[in-house]
Amino acid sequence: MKIDIVTLFPEMFTGVLSESIVGRARAAGAVEIGVTDFRKFSTNKHNTVDDTPYGGGGGMVLKPDPIFDAVESLFDPSQAKPRIILTCPQGVPYTQELVLDLAKEQHLILICGHYEGYDDRIRQHLITDEISIGDYVLTGGEIPAMAIVDSVVRLLPGVLGNDTSAELDSFRNGLLEYPHYTRPYEYRGWKVPDVLLSGHHEKIEQWRRRESLRRTYLRRPDLLEKAELTEQDRQWLKEIAYEEQGSSPRTS
Ligand code: SAM
Repeated sequence: MKIDIVTLFPEMFTGVLSESIVGRARAAGAVEIGVTDFRKFSTNKHNTVDDTPYGGGGGMVLKPDPIFDAVESLFDPSQAKPRIILTCPQGVPYTQELVLDLAKEQHLILICGHYEGYDDRIRQHLITDEISIGDYVLTGGEIPAMAIVDSVVRLLPGVLGNDTSAELDSFRNGLLEYPHYTRPYEYRGWKVPDVLLSGHHEKIEQWRRRESLRRTYLRRPDLLEKAELTEQDRQWLKEIAYEEQGSSPRTS
């Protein structure tokens, strides 16, 4: 896969792209990541990339030409158009389903906005997707682009050491992941659930599924409406609802 990031602040990406799993994925050739400074595509003598909004009002708006030129320099127009993603609080909410979809692509281009936003012709005529990483407003699209790169790269073949760890992640099967424990068995008097030490594979799997349902029930009951549930799951959910009477769903 190739990922291109189009930004005014290329240096913000230095650490993120060279450390940990993303850094190793690049070193191993699983992904090629380029960072393009769209200020270099400005054609006016002060290298400006923004201007005041038509119609008045506060804030500066990113001009269309440097962004169109920067993005169009990154792919061959005679080939299939890559996914061109505008980071934007008005975009579709970023979910693991969308991460899986993006991880299948050959080429992603991520545009990082700033200031008041973009000239709307970028939205209308250049991009293929608009993605929001949550219902809050950041100063720029660099952190959203980092979140997109990180979440996509970890799903590329061979990037995570243990292939099953992404399979079991929260959201992958529509539920939140079950709780994890490691040594010591007892810490400050708090013990690890005994079933996890039993060596009984089937019982451990059942416990994990049930606890995954419990977590989802308590924290994200909305996910249960869409999750694929078996008869056994539904039975466990009834028991969990009974066991958790009095606990209200966690919102923080
Ligand atoms: N005035 C814009 C609005 O109300 O929609 C917000 C602009 S924001 C200050 C500047 C840039 O940060 C955006 O163009 C986008 O690239 C990025 N950004 C801010 N919040 C974001 C979010 N929740 N998801 C994705 N990108 C975001």
